[in-house]
Amino acid sequence: MNLPFAESYKIKMVEPIKKSTRNQRIQWIKDARYNLFKLNSDQVFIDLLTDSGTGAMSDRQWSELMLGDESYAGASSYFKMKNAIKSILGFDYFLPTHQGRAAENVLFSTLIKEGDVVPGNSHFDTTKGHIEFRKAHAIDCTIDEAFETTNLHPFKGNIDLNKLEQVLKSYPKEKIPCIVVTVTCNSSGGQPVSMQNLKDVKAMATRYGIPVVFDSARFAENAYFIKLREEAYKEKTIKEIVWDMFANADMMTMSSKKDAIVNMGGFIGFKNEETFKNATVFNIMFEGYITYGGMSGRDMNALAQGLYEGTEFDYLESRIKQIEYLGQQLIAAGVPIQMPVGGHAVFVDATKFLPHLPKEELVAQTLAIELYIEGGVRGVEIGTLLADRDPDTRENRYPTLELLRLAIPRRVYTNNHMDYVAAALINVYNRRNDIRKGYRITYEAPIMRHFTVELEKIY
Ligand SMILES: *Cc1c(COP(=O)(O)O)cnc(C)c1O
Repeated sequence: MNLPFAESYKIKMVEPIKKSTRNQRIQWIKDARYNLFKLNSDQVFIDLLTDSGTGAMSDRQWSELMLGDESYAGASSYFKMKNAIKSILGFDYFLPTHQGRAAENVLFSTLIKEGDVVPGNSHFDTTKGHIEFRKAHAIDCTIDEAFETTNLHPFKGNIDLNKLEQVLKSYPKEKIPCIVVTVTCNSSGGQPVSMQNLKDVKAMATRYGIPVVFDSARFAENAYFIKLREEAYKEKTIKEIVWDMFANADMMTMSSKKDAIVNMGGFIGFKNEETFKNATVFNIMFEGYITYGGMSGRDMNALAQGLYEGTEFDYLESRIKQIEYLGQQLIAAGVPIQMPVGGHAVFVDATKFLPHLPKEELVAQTLAIELYIEGGVRGVEIGTLLADRDPDTRENRYPTLELLRLAIPRRVYTNNHMDYVAAALINVYNRRNDIRKGYRITYEAPIMRHFTVELEKIY
């Protein structure tokens, strides 16, 4: 008999989670104005809101916390992080920041000015927010296959080189401060970018004299997919693949709350000393001195250790197989999801799930609310609320895909939890025709509205 797959770790510490009744959940979500961000965590049984900062640190990472050096300047923890970044990612210069969006804030303060355009593959929401806040424009150049959920393209995060070249040709070089490549691409379903595409983008960028920034939150998951799906990399280690990936980047922003498996932290990597120096000014202004930038020494230690662990094949295999395990159960039951299953989450195609609901009634959000009521499972809308309004016209932007994302925290839940999530969602699927009405907005913030939006039920 072939031995079945099993996780490459065991559990040393546990944390209780709370069950609730359907009636309690109906009341709680109403009190939360139908915004799942506004629920208290003890009102949630299985929390798949995000995989950001929600992972379980290893025994080694916890040990590193005790070794943290809290000196204001020149702490050994800074050098631990510097060594990890240099040896794994190849960047000579880096700035620590308190999380990924802070890295974007510092870097974009250095690079982007009003009227600029920033091409990329389905920019992440905070990335787009930081671009638009500066009155610049994010231009999506993702391949069309990414938006067909049943298309089994192995690299749906890829940049369409024709679309990219069109942008590079249409604007003067001075208006294009950088190209942002997100690995893996969250907005299109945790979908990877191929090594070939990374090389092609870099080659084109070089021809036009434009620097390439990797938005790197899930770079290690991206490397895992390259190993599995790109013939030339089958025999390479994850660390070798990561090295080759970042050879195609001039800069990187990192949310360490993802693939560095820490609860808080981020950084910017630079190959060019002058850009690093320019960014240093903003880092000191917004984050902190250059050798801690919004992080404590202990957290820099845990982050450095997380970078080594997060780029191990066995860890990545355990993680990504769990997402696949959930995804396959849903596919077997006919639930429409983005395929192939992504690296950190299952993305449910809400438009296909609830085809009778008009898009104005917030289809993916409606599905997220129903899943919460069904089983106390918290997912997140990646749809109209997230897509926000056009900064110029203030009209709602209706995205090509209305998705419910079920993001799986790293090393946190067991496959029994995945079985529970699948059963809850399949129950909702079986009663989908009874979900006749959606929701409307009663309050929204001028930018990144999804975090604080308030809704009411349409009757
Ligand atoms: C999470 C994330 C960010 C923002 O990072 P935070 O740590 O949440 O501020 C940026 N880009 C991508 C791709 C992300 O996943």
